[in-house]
Order: sequence, then C-alpha cells, then structure tokens
Amino acid sequence: MSNGLNLKLIGCIISIAFLSNALFAQQTERPLPIIDMHLHASTADANGPPPTGICPGKPNFPLFDSNQRWLETFVDWAMNPPCENPVWGPETDQELMEQTLEILNRRNIFGVTSGPFLNEYKQAGEDRIIPSYFFGLRDNAPTPEQVREELSTGYYKVFGEVTIQYEGKSPDHPQFAPYLEILEELDIPLGIHIGTGPPGSPHFPGFQNYRARMHSPLEIEEVAIKHPTLRIYLMHAGWPMLDDLLAVLYVYPQVYVDVGIISYALPREEFHYYIRRVVNAGFGNRIMFGSDQMNWPGAIEAAIEAIELADFLTFDQKRDILYNNAARFLRLTEEEIALHHQ
Ligand SMILES: [Zn+2]
Repeated sequence: MSNGLNLKLIGCIISIAFLSNALFAQQTERPLPIIDMHLHASTADANGPPPTGICPGKPNFPLFDSNQRWLETFVDWAMNPPCENPVWGPETDQELMEQTLEILNRRNIFGVTSGPFLNEYKQAGEDRIIPSYFFGLRDNAPTPEQVREELSTGYYKVFGEVTIQYEGKSPDHPQFAPYLEILEELDIPLGIHIGTGPPGSPHFPGFQNYRARMHSPLEIEEVAIKHPTLRIYLMHAGWPMLDDLLAVLYVYPQVYVDVGIISYALPREEFHYYIRRVVNAGFGNRIMFGSDQMNWPGAIEAAIEAIELADFLTFDQKRDILYNNAARFLRLTEEEIALHHQ
C-alpha cells in the first residue's frame, strides 16, 4: 500500500516537474517576430481629448448632422465608441509609450516608428524601435539641406510617414521633388500616406485640402518613373482604390504597401476582401504589416489578429505579411533576421 502511494507520489512529482518545465518553456519562448512598418510615437490626444477608443473591425462610422460641426461629431464618436469592447487609448503620453513598448516586447515586434516622441521611444525601446523620419510640407517644414544632414547620420532607416496628402499635395508636387532626390541618393526608403485619413477629413481644421481622389495609388506613378531605384511603400495601401493599386503593383515592382489603419478601422470583412484581392492578383509578397496604432496601443494586437484570422491566407502567406516582406523591403541582413528570431 505504501509502495503504491510512493509510486503515485513519484508520478505526481514527475508530472509537476514536467508541467512546470512546459510552463517555463512557454514563458521563455518568444513568439515569431513581427515587423510593424507603421508605428507612431504619438500623443495621447491624437484622436481627441483622452481617453478615446475605437471599435476594431466594426467601426459604425458616425452620421453627418448639419446642426453639428463634423469635428465635434468625430470627437464624440471617438470618446463614445459605439461597440461593446472598444480598444481604449490611455490618458497620458507616458502610459501610451509604456503600453506600446509592452506589446512590442510581449509580441516580439520591431516597429518602424515616427512621431513627436520618437527619440523617447528609441531610448526606452532600443532595438525594437526602427527610427523613421515623419514629414509634411507645412510652413515650418525642414529644408532639403536639413533633411539631407539628418538622414546622413544613419539614425533614420525610413523616410515616413510622409503626410502631404493631408495638405492636398501629390507625391510629384514640385515642392517635394528635392527630398525625393535625396532619398534615392542615400538609398532610404519612402513611406508615404496614400489612402485613408479620418472619415470626413476635409472637414478637419488643417486638412481642408485633403481629397478623396488622392487615395489612389496612381498618385505615386510619376515618382516611381522618375526614381526607379527608390524603394516606396504606400501607407494604408491606397484603400479603397483596388484596381488602381493592382495596376501600380503590376507596373512598378519597387512599390510595396502596408496595411495601416485599414487593418482595424474598417469592417473586418472589407479589410479581408481588399487584402484577399491583392493576394489573389499575385502580390501577397509585397503586402507588409503596419498598425498605425496612434494613441491606441491595443490596436497593434487588433491589427495582428486581423491578419491571423484571415482564413484565406496560409501560414506562410501570413508570415510573409507579418515579417518576411518587410525584412526584404528593409534589406535586413541575415544576422539581423537571426537576432529577431532568437
Ligand atoms: Zn500613420
């Protein structure tokens, strides 16, 4: 009897040891790496007075009521997101950074990052943050000489997010031309916003010149012709101009896209329809993951989920979107890729 008990006890100890080993392995094993081509070091009030929230995959866009200014309608929508489980943004810039970096660490993400707090994010996030040069052509825009000097330091790996669409300026606007020369010369890739801003963008102060027709990937055509060796990616993938996008991907093999905000701010069905068409057309190896999380750290995981739950993608196609395509586009070395997979 005592022998039986001892055997049971030993069995029990062995299974506890086995279980704790398994748990330990689970805790220490890092998930497969992800590259986020569209991360922001943003302010907590980026979408209205914090806290604001968003409903991933089911936006319920607000209706226009001419008795109210659209900006008020938008802010009201962001402060009272119309769904059961919205992703809420934190109240302070500090919490925003901490929560963003916590997700990068836990999910093994490396983020091409731009925005006002880039240096703080880089200092705290180290290798997880790949610095990118946020750029617009407003009155106080840095001159081409200043940009050349800053890019020559090697700190910035990407030039983006370029937001001139919000100013109503196309990529081939003469004012932008000297910057493109510098990018091609220094071999720094361009990440440019071509696609969705917030709904009702021209009603926002400062975005009066935003135009729906500028969602079209055809906007990049003259630049792609003039700078054939420049690596270009269209941030937000030119949604919803699908035919224009397919034509551009077909004609200009140096052009890639990131999914950006369409991964969580559109109805999930529409996002999947759009990506599926790009994959079906043969360009799944030029779609890159990007979250455009702004002030919502939780949006990063909502965006990853939108890729992971796409049942029309194979495991390998998901890995291409989440990592491999960006690693190729950024020309990461074998050593860098091996480090990411450790
Ligand atoms: Zn963005």
